[in-house]
Amino acid sequence: MQYNVTVIGSGPGGYVAAIRCAQLGFKTAIVEKYDTLGGTCLNVGCIPSKALLDSTEHFHNAAHTFKEHGIDIPEPKVNIKQMIARKSDVVKQNVDGIAFLMKKNKIDVLKGVGSFVDKNTIKVTAKDGKESSITTDNVIIATGSKPTALPFAPFDNRWWRCDWYGAWVSLCAHWVESFCGRIFRQPHSYDGRNHGQRIVEVHQKVGDGILPGPQGHSHRK
Ligand SMILES: Cc1cc2nc3c(=O)[nH]c(=O)nc-3n(C[C@H](O)[C@H](O)[C@H](O)COP(=O)(O)OP(=O)(O)OC[C@H]3O[C@@H](n4cnc5c(N)ncnc54)[C@H](O)[C@@H]3O)c2cc1C
Repeated sequence: MQYNVTVIGSGPGGYVAAIRCAQLGFKTAIVEKYDTLGGTCLNVGCIPSKALLDSTEHFHNAAHTFKEHGIDIPEPKVNIKQMIARKSDVVKQNVDGIAFLMKKNKIDVLKGVGSFVDKNTIKVTAKDGKESSITTDNVIIATGSKPTALPFAPFDNRWWRCDWYGAWVSLCAHWVESFCGRIFRQPHSYDGRNHGQRIVEVHQKVGDGILPGPQGHSHRK
C-alpha cells in the first residue's frame, strides 16, 4: 500500500497529526502497536486519572460539603469496583472516539510495531509476528517517550524515581488516600496539599496491592 503520510504512534501527538494530514488531502496511515488508539494519555494517563479524580471530587463533596448546603445524606461509602468500571468506561468512550475519527477521516489504522526498512518503507509487525510493509512519501514519528532510569537512580516507583507506571500508582495512591485518608490520618480532600508525603505514607500503609492497574495494562511497556 502507498501513502502520502504515515504516522507512527496514535497518542495525542499522532492522532491529531494524522487527522490534519487527512483533512489536507493526504492519503494517511497510522501505525499503533497497542490494541487501542490514543496512546498514554487516553489509555493510562490523563483520562483515567482525571476520571478517578472526578469521582474523588464527588465523594469529597458528599462527605464534606453537602451538609453545609443543607443536604443531609447518610455517610457516603466508596464502591471501588464501580469507580474503576466507570473509569474504564470513560477510557473506552475516548479510545472508541479516536477509532471513529480515523474512520471518518479515511485514515488506515495498522496495528503493530512500526519500524523503518528505509526512509520510504515502514514494516509493521503485528502481535502474532506477521509482518507487512507499506511505502510512504513522508513519516511522522509520534511514538511518545519513555522515562529512562539513570544508573545511579534506578526506578523504584516509590518516590521521585518513577516510570509512567509509578506516576499512575502515585496518582492512585493520592486518590485512594482521598477516600481512605480518614483511616490513616484525618480526612483529606483531593487537592495537592503535602501530596508527596501522603503518597509515601499510603504506599507504606496500604502497599501497591490495593492499587488496580489502569485498563488492565498495569505493566504496559
Ligand atoms: C499518569 C499520567 C497522567 C498524565 N496526566 C496528564 C494530564 O493531566 N495532562 C497532560 O497534558 N498530560 C498528562 N500526561 C502526559 C500525557 O499522557 C503525555 O504527554 C502524552 O500522552 C504524550 O503524547 P504522545 O502522542 O507524544 O505520546 P503517547 O501518548 O505516549 O503515544 C505514543 C504512542 O506511540 C505508540 N508507539 C510507540 N512506538 C511505536 C512503534 N514503534 N510502532 C507503533 N506504535 C508505537 C505507543 O504505543 C503509544 O500509543 C499524563 C501521563 C501519565 C503517565
